[in-house]
Amino acid sequence: VTATDAVEQVGAREALDALRAVVGDDHLLTDTAARATFEQPWRGAAGSALAVARPADVEELRGVVRVAVAHGIPLVLQGANTGLVGAGVPDGTGRQVVVSLTRLDRIRELDVVDRTVVVEAGRDRESLDQALAEYDLELPVDLGASPSIGGMVATNTGGARMLRHGDMRRRTLGVEVVVIDADATLLSDLGALRKDNGRLHLHDLVVGGDGRRGIVTAAAIEVELRPATRTTALLVPSGVDAVMHVLDVFERGSGHALSAFEVMSDTALGWVRAALPAVADPFPAGAPALTVLVELSDRDASRDLEGLLLRLGSELAASGHLLDALVVPPRTAWTLRHSLSEAAALCARARGRRIFALDVSVRRSRLPALIAELERVVSDDTSGRDLDGDLELGHFGHWGDGGAHLLLSMSAGATEHDISSVRRELHEVVAAAGGSFSAEHGIGPHNLASYLTFVPAWQRDLESTVQRLFDPCALLGHVSAGPTT
Ligand SMILES: Cc1cc2nc3c(=O)[nH]c(=O)nc-3n(C[C@H](O)[C@H](O)[C@H](O)COP(=O)(O)OP(=O)(O)OC[C@H]3O[C@@H](n4cnc5c(N)ncnc54)[C@H](O)[C@@H]3O)c2cc1C
Repeated sequence: VTATDAVEQVGAREALDALRAVVGDDHLLTDTAARATFEQPWRGAAGSALAVARPADVEELRGVVRVAVAHGIPLVLQGANTGLVGAGVPDGTGRQVVVSLTRLDRIRELDVVDRTVVVEAGRDRESLDQALAEYDLELPVDLGASPSIGGMVATNTGGARMLRHGDMRRRTLGVEVVVIDADATLLSDLGALRKDNGRLHLHDLVVGGDGRRGIVTAAAIEVELRPATRTTALLVPSGVDAVMHVLDVFERGSGHALSAFEVMSDTALGWVRAALPAVADPFPAGAPALTVLVELSDRDASRDLEGLLLRLGSELAASGHLLDALVVPPRTAWTLRHSLSEAAALCARARGRRIFALDVSVRRSRLPALIAELERVVSDDTSGRDLDGDLELGHFGHWGDGGAHLLLSMSAGATEHDISSVRRELHEVVAAAGGSFSAEHGIGPHNLASYLTFVPAWQRDLESTVQRLFDPCALLGHVSAGPTT
């Protein structure tokens, strides 16, 4: 143990004692077993934390921040830990304290007439939605996981119904944030006005901050009346180029009823069949190259959405854009869609393969060409990359918003270097099409190299300037990821 290590150890011990005094013995987790679930991300390798602090309320949280600033302890913020780019778990240094927000979970105010809710950051999406259901309201940002509200604000979650209801940037009307300074300054802007051009709005700076623009403690969110009826179908387009025409016909012909337009590839559906036999298989004879999940919903329970769906489907079949259409119950359709990630991971494990995911976007008019190009690049056996002939691509995603998740499976022998070079190669294809390397999952350590490559220096400088406003001592985020400039 060097003199520096010894000083650090004493400093860390003092910091832990101070944190314990703030959150109490039961809510400062230091032993390996208790920390484990907070260190393991949804995807990727586990990190290692000095401790996990679980403050009960905003004042305890501010106490944690004061200790961190006084002792120079780096922090990583965590909500429900469903993030997919490794940003909500500690890195491998063992120096960070994970601040878990889950105990800040109160609904502070629900204004039914205004259709707004002020909710604390640790509240999970599903239980908030259940509470809203009692008033026939919903949080329409919906996805196959139940993240925390703070995590959703920090990552600007899009979800499966963004096409109709927008992302968290669109739904957030205000935030309350703790700044990482000696006073743990609390900035509160929860007035929830839809119209207010009289000042700068805190949430305009904070949404999408990736855990580096202060700690969100509460948010004011615009909610919606719940639809009274929903209909879903699985459509088989005649080819990748027909997909956007199908979308256009549904947007023009459904009178605002279209609420989701998701596309799934045959490889992705094949993973579900292989790994999750309990999930209903709509195509027992083999999945078509592409399947579109379309959802129509409406407040008017008497509206014949199924009839509308069949009529639009018949028109599209007559014009040669659709080969088949199956009306299936919403639960069946969404179970299938939301099981794709899990099935991919299970399949890879069973076959002894590695898997990694990319989350890209492009203008939706360019998405069919982008997907075709990505498939060509992945299957090109003459590219000279080490993984030639071994890569398998399954994709699915929110095509209505121009987003696609790419899951790449490869043999267990693939190295981190192999993965980085494939990631870089595919991100270059996306950039050439004018797209983004991170559609909705944020930056985090997984996308840091692409951030530094594809985001111009002036934008990274601007990001660093904003981060410094909320985190002047640079204590938030991964130590090993370094600054984002
Ligand atoms: C099965 C599955 C499906 C998904 N589908 C979608 C999808 O369709 N669309 C989509 O957009 N995402 C999707 N995601 C990604 C994920 O759910 C979102 O990124 C989510 O919003 C993260 O919220 P969380 O509470 O889990 O945050 P965490 O994973 O805990 O953290 C994520 C980031 O937010 C930061 N953070 C957390 N809480 C706070 C806070 N209070 N203040 C400041 N920063 C904070 C963390 O530091 C980290 O940078 C999916 C994930 C899974 C597992």
